[in-house]
Amino acid sequence: MARIRGKGNRSTERRFAAILRARHISGWRLHSPEVEGHPDIYFPKSRLAIFVDGCFWHGCKKCFRVPAQNKSFWARKISGNMRRDRRIDRSLRRRGVGVIRVWEHDLERITPKIRLLLNKIRHAIAPRE
Ligand SMILES: [Zn+2]
Repeated sequence: MARIRGKGNRSTERRFAAILRARHISGWRLHSPEVEGHPDIYFPKSRLAIFVDGCFWHGCKKCFRVPAQNKSFWARKISGNMRRDRRIDRSLRRRGVGVIRVWEHDLERITPKIRLLLNKIRHAIAPRE
């Protein structure tokens, strides 16, 4: 279990923060306890929340497998997490906060998908006239 947990959030969010820094994307904070759902990255000016979701804890379709032991516990636990994620997304969007979710597995290297995502972020935080 420790191994699964270790693969999760802290290292991936740090990785994503490093990607933003390397591309000179600034104006964000790590962990904003005052924002619902405590987004990993939050741009207060443009009200954009970014969640870096661990593939295990957030039930990634591509990577998540229910552990062989305590199957029903894990299935319930993870589907509960997924419901909570959707609820947080809806609630933030209702209040005018943009929400972007990134999968842990997408951060293994800089792919065209990540470049697209970075452009989306740049666009979302660009000052408007
Ligand atoms: Zn995944």
